Amino acid sequence: MKRKVLVLEDEDSIRSFIVLNLKRGGYEVIEANSGELALDLYPQNTDIAVAILDVMLPGIDGYEVCRTLRTQGYAAGIIMLTARTQEADKVTGLMTGADDYVTKPFSVVELVARVDALFRRVAGNPFADDETIKSGPFKLNLRAREVQKNGVKIELTQIEYGILRTFMQNIGKALSRDDILEMVWGHHYVGELKIVDVNIRRLRLKIEDDPANPQYITTVRGYGYMWQS
Ligand code: CA
Repeated sequence: MKRKVLVLEDEDSIRSFIVLNLKRGGYEVIEANSGELALDLYPQNTDIAVAILDVMLPGIDGYEVCRTLRTQGYAAGIIMLTARTQEADKVTGLMTGADDYVTKPFSVVELVARVDALFRRVAGNPFADDETIKSGPFKLNLRAREVQKNGVKIELTQIEYGILRTFMQNIGKALSRDDILEMVWGHHYVGELKIVDVNIRRLRLKIEDDPANPQYITTVRGYGYMWQS
C-alpha cells in the first residue's frame, strides 16, 4: 500500500508544518484547506492510507468529513486533530468513525508517530497468508482484513478490525485494557485507556445481536474484556 496521507487543516502554517514532517517521514501528501476540498479530492485519491482531519474548519467540519468518508466506505485510517480537550469531543470523534485523535497543541513528532502506527495497521502484513479465523457466526480474513457475520460483511474501521482480530486470536481469554491498547494501538501509544472502551462500545453496536446485552465481547469487571463465541 502507498504511503499516502491526506492532511486537512485550514491554518496554512500548521498544515505546512505537518506536510513538511510527513514528507520527511517518506509520505506522499495530499493537502486540503477545507472540508469541501478534502471531499472533492478523495474520489481521485482512494489509495490514501491515513487521513488527518482538523475538527475546527470554517465550512464542513472535520467530524462531518470523517462521517462522510466512512459512509462512503473509505477504509483509510483517520486521525482527528482537535483543539478541544473535553472528553465528549474525543468521544464524538471516535463515534463518527475516527481511529485516533490528537489534541492541539501537539508535538509533530508524536503526530507522525501516530501516522506511522496507523499506517502499519492499514497496510497490514504483506506476508500474511490467506488464513481465516472462525468463531461462532464470525469469519475473519487476515489477508483481506475483512470480517463477516453469518456470511455478511461488517464495515469496520481499522481500529475496530484490529480489536476484533485481537479478540478472535485470543478466544476465551480475558484481556485487560492495557493488553488491548498494546496489541491494537502498539507499544508507543501515548493516549488514554478510555479509547479502548469507546471503540469497544462502537464495535458492539456493529457486531452484537443485542448491544445492550453483549454476548460476544463480554466485560470482565474491573479488568477488561473477553471474546466468547
Ligand atoms: Ca482549524
